[in-house]
Amino acid sequence: MQRNSLVNIKLNANSPSGKATTRPNTSKINKPWRISHSPQQRNPNSKIPSPVREKLNKLPVNNKKFLEMENSKIPSPVRKATSSKMTHENKKLPKFKSLSLDDFELGKKLGKGKFGKVYCVRHRSTGYICALKVMEKEEIIKYNLQRQFRREVEIQTSLNHPNLTKSYGYFHDEKRVYLLMEYLVNGEMYKLLRSHGPFNDILASDYIYQIANALDYMHKKNIIHRDIKPENILIGFNNVIKLTDFGWSIINPPESRRKTVCGTIDYLSPEMVESREYDHTIDAWALGVLAFELLTGAPPFEEEMKDTTYKRIAALDIKIPSNVSQDAQDLILKLLKYDPKDRMRLGDVKMHPWILRNKPFWENKRL
Ligand code: ATP
Ligand code: MG
Repeated sequence: MQRNSLVNIKLNANSPSGKATTRPNTSKINKPWRISHSPQQRNPNSKIPSPVREKLNKLPVNNKKFLEMENSKIPSPVRKATSSKMTHENKKLPKFKSLSLDDFELGKKLGKGKFGKVYCVRHRSTGYICALKVMEKEEIIKYNLQRQFRREVEIQTSLNHPNLTKSYGYFHDEKRVYLLMEYLVNGEMYKLLRSHGPFNDILASDYIYQIANALDYMHKKNIIHRDIKPENILIGFNNVIKLTDFGWSIINPPESRRKTVCGTIDYLSPEMVESREYDHTIDAWALGVLAFELLTGAPPFEEEMKDTTYKRIAALDIKIPSNVSQDAQDLILKLLKYDPKDRMRLGDVKMHPWILRNKPFWENKRL
């Protein structure tokens, strides 16, 4: 079971109708504080659906990399469709007018979110492997998500960063809308965290650095992600990770504030929980929650009852296990500040001693 993002649920008696989601509670699960995962142990192809894996295994390494790294270069028939065939009403959105589900061979289901199922697909004519997020129109209409979907496509297709999942555009038929994205072969960070237990400092710092990089880029474009969590982080080759799911992302010009409560309960900031206005610094808060979860296996304010979680978030009731290194504790506490103005800036996260001390041990050099 996945923790989902909030959808039209009441946060508490005093809060506006929220849109944050719940996750399966791990507070009862025995928490393996021991650090057990080493990045080298993983088989990079372990999550690829079998027919696709067979094909991939036959490819030379460079070609495998091409699938992962270069598939932001849209295959020419697909690219042509984007540039020449935009609809009148949706001028801004890269819509593939000539594409349909028949153009793809459907592979394994990669994941399921609140609104979408995501499949691994192969573009028949080019052999190109992509991820396809499928959403039922009926559901989009039922939950009044037309604007949200439009925004998701607009935002995701406008972003171009090595740590953000690239989207190529969308198409639709009578029943469904389809969002075409680059395919991340190693799946969700959440599943890795559940199966291997907490990450060590080297791996966790590498991941936090990459997410800080992605968020820094988004914030410079005045976009807030608003749903950071391990489920929305995908793992590619060479420990490169990519933030995905821009369903709650929003364009927020400098100095402006938002009020919609959305995201995932364990990752909500105090200002969201207290129904106050917020800005891009909610992502920095969520990055602190993420660092805690990656190093300990569970988010810091997790409780069985969501109201208790909200109370603990608002009271900044945080207990960091003593086996978390001093450097990591320092970073977490500097991100989990009650006052948004006091939160560490993303540029400073990238220069924090925890990052700098672990950087020489990362598998790959990062930008
Ligand atoms: P949520 O409930 O978080 O709002 P959602 O309906 O918006 O979810 P996504 O989070 O975009 O859906 O996708 C659901 C799942 O599908 C992800 O958690 C991940 O496991 C898988 N997935 C999504 N995109 C990709 C991709 N590009 N490559 C591989 N797997 C993916
Ligand atoms: Mg998601």
